[in-house]
Amino acid sequence: MEPIIKLNINNKTYQKGWACFRKTTPVPALQEFSLTVERGESVAIVGESGIGKSTLLNILGLIDRKYDGDYSIMGKRASELTDAQLAQWRNEKIGFVLQESSLINTLRVEENIKLPFLYANPRPQNLETRFAQAVDQLGIRDLLKKKPLECSGGQKSRIAFARAIMMDPPIILADEPSSALDDENKERMLMLLRNLNENHSTTVITVTHDAYVANQHDRIITLHKEA
Ligand code: ADP
Ligand code: MG
Repeated sequence: MEPIIKLNINNKTYQKGWACFRKTTPVPALQEFSLTVERGESVAIVGESGIGKSTLLNILGLIDRKYDGDYSIMGKRASELTDAQLAQWRNEKIGFVLQESSLINTLRVEENIKLPFLYANPRPQNLETRFAQAVDQLGIRDLLKKKPLECSGGQKSRIAFARAIMMDPPIILADEPSSALDDENKERMLMLLRNLNENHSTTVITVTHDAYVANQHDRIITLHKEA
């Protein structure tokens, strides 16, 4: 079967500075990097800070498309997806747990978690069941009426996680999902990831600094500085 993810980056460089004044300096972020992931695999990405882990996840998650390289996801070339397809894929195919909280502060926790449903077409049938399951699995029922600003960092990452799994996406991308969690909640999240991976064949790619978390995956990939 075709791999779910096939990425070949020649070069990803950010431009830092004022593009409007044509004063930018290039910041190289990923060079000569390839990654192939089979459907149902779980992969941990590790490497020192600033090495390009978040950059990699943004590319995999179809958020960043400015790079020199080639990316196929679920058999389709990313560069050939239309804007409408991109929006739909980001909502339904990819569960993205961002490093920085991506919750909307003006919405209650419950609304934040249900946000992907609003854009889903067609609407999933078992919306309320799925919502209840995720909320209980992550132990965040007490938080549903709150706003994100009333929640702690660890609570916010559990909320973001619940939202990411809401559409039952075939791919989950998580950027240091456990960094703000205590041991009990870290276990909870790992159990959930393992359960999705083993029982739903969800493909999981996790960026982490935590060796314990990394070791729970099928494979660990270390990003290195160029020689
Ligand atoms: P990591 O997640 O491994 O800590 P990142 O992917 O965030 O690393 O960053 C890789 C490199 O790209 C770093 O040198 C970082 O400073 C740079 N970088 C990341 N995002 C941007 C951006 N939006 N603009 C300019 N440089 C960036
Ligand atoms: Mg990062």
